[in-house]
Amino acid sequence: MGSESRDYDIIVAGGGLAGMIVASSASYYSKQSLKILVVDRNPSPQLGKKTISGWVCGDAVGKNSVDYMTSRIGIKWQNPEIEHPVKGVIAFSPDHETSISFDGEGYILNRKVLPQKQLNDALNVGIEIKYNLALRNVITDANKVIGVEGEDLETKSAFKKTCKIVVDCTGVTSVLRTNLPIKSHVQRKINRDDLEATGRYIYNFDSEAEDKTYFDPDYCIIHLDQNIAPGGYAWVFPKGKNKVNVGLGVQQKAMEEHNKKQGQRKDLKTKIDEYVKMNPVIKNPQIADGESDDGNGWGTWQVSVRRQNDCLVASGYMLVGDSAWMPKPLDAGGIGPAIIAATIAGKDAVQSIQANDNSEQSLWQYNLDFVEAYGYKTAGLEVFRRLLQKLTNDQINYGMKHFLSKLDIDNITDGEHPEFGMVDKFNMFIHGALNKGLSEDLKHTAEVNKKLVNHYQNYPTNPNDFPEWQNKLTKFMSDAFTKLGCA
Ligand SMILES: Cc1cc2nc3c(=O)[nH]c(=O)nc-3n(C[C@H](O)[C@H](O)[C@H](O)COP(=O)(O)OP(=O)(O)OC[C@H]3O[C@@H](n4cnc5c(N)ncnc54)[C@H](O)[C@@H]3O)c2cc1C
Repeated sequence: MGSESRDYDIIVAGGGLAGMIVASSASYYSKQSLKILVVDRNPSPQLGKKTISGWVCGDAVGKNSVDYMTSRIGIKWQNPEIEHPVKGVIAFSPDHETSISFDGEGYILNRKVLPQKQLNDALNVGIEIKYNLALRNVITDANKVIGVEGEDLETKSAFKKTCKIVVDCTGVTSVLRTNLPIKSHVQRKINRDDLEATGRYIYNFDSEAEDKTYFDPDYCIIHLDQNIAPGGYAWVFPKGKNKVNVGLGVQQKAMEEHNKKQGQRKDLKTKIDEYVKMNPVIKNPQIADGESDDGNGWGTWQVSVRRQNDCLVASGYMLVGDSAWMPKPLDAGGIGPAIIAATIAGKDAVQSIQANDNSEQSLWQYNLDFVEAYGYKTAGLEVFRRLLQKLTNDQINYGMKHFLSKLDIDNITDGEHPEFGMVDKFNMFIHGALNKGLSEDLKHTAEVNKKLVNHYQNYPTNPNDFPEWQNKLTKFMSDAFTKLGCA
């Protein structure tokens, strides 16, 4: 089929946070000259809903990511989609003796309201949206993606549309990626240990006590504690003076080991309920059920915490957001990278269409642009995350107290890997074999990170060189995991 006779130029699969930005970005860069369709399985008032239990998210995003989008494609977010501003993030050690403040303005979004604002923006520039359509697969021709197919959930009829480029924004469980039927470098499946099981409440509450280690209206609070959140972390993000997004993420494997050690069988919801109960500030919590929260007060979902898919494109196909495993491996923050990737993907899709070439080679530029803007650092952070997941609470207490310099904190604030320069200075004073081992491991993650960043700076400029590059990457990663004892 000639690409001139396709139904659309671009079909964005999934009208969630990433999908709506891709569509707006492509419209912006093409000066509204392309035919763009967004397809989502939800009805219009529920656009962006990830699961039956809601728009499940911690809702926090750094201002710098939003600014990235605004300055490039002119999309502005304000109240009510931005529900509450924050000044930064404070992470507490398990013993609460050390708190590390990562300053930097941010926003707590309303994820139910935001898609409606995104929808208005899209309709205003002539983007077409189709609802109630569950996509099942891409349509292909001669090893090229040329459209999508699925089911109309209202009429139970088949849905099929063709296009020049499909941008897959259907989230972490993407069936389009998992079933991609053409030969390509895209990785289809994720390792179970690279997924976090996460859940959260949105509560209104009466605040009886003041304790800024448990709730601070100006800061997102993170509690690191392997008993509360095995292999993950717990959070208390303010949505107002008496409103909170509170939850936790765990690694399933770490949770199972923890349960076994404790001789118990607690599930994620029980752990979250216990976490809320121990909070001395959140009293009389009531699930938020006003119009902007109704149906979104409680939910669980998964987040990936690996580096992004090693390859983000195939012929006629691009991956953006959670479908590409973009959340940051260290904190599962996926909104920032989704915003950045979606802004870039819109631009690169338009360039390919204008060049009348939607081949893998032509779309490859998106791999390069995302790696340059964000993706260069994620493999190093994946190694660091694996190390953190195996630490005991005592090691986390000790490490947070002694091993993080101001420079390291600035690096983490900027989303970069810490250098752990303190470890050398402090070396002779380190107490205990375990802590000495930890200091060596931390130093090693910093060294591996430098190699990995350098490797990503040499990301192949064409698909033919990719296999060799990927083999090297896999070797770097597996050597690091073996050395750190977390293979
Ligand atoms: C509990 C939790 C807490 C989190 N906290 C934070 C946080 O505080 N900060 C942060 O930055 N990130 C956080 N994240 C991650 C963040 O929510 C995601 O990175 C972000 O939502 C990704 O957006 P997306 O558009 O790629 O995917 P999604 O938001 O998952 O959107 C996918 C869209 O595609 C649609 N769709 C899916 N399948 C199909 C199909 N087959 N056919 C048609 N449509 C389909 C869905 O209905 C949905 O509208 C959290 C995640 C969870 C689960």
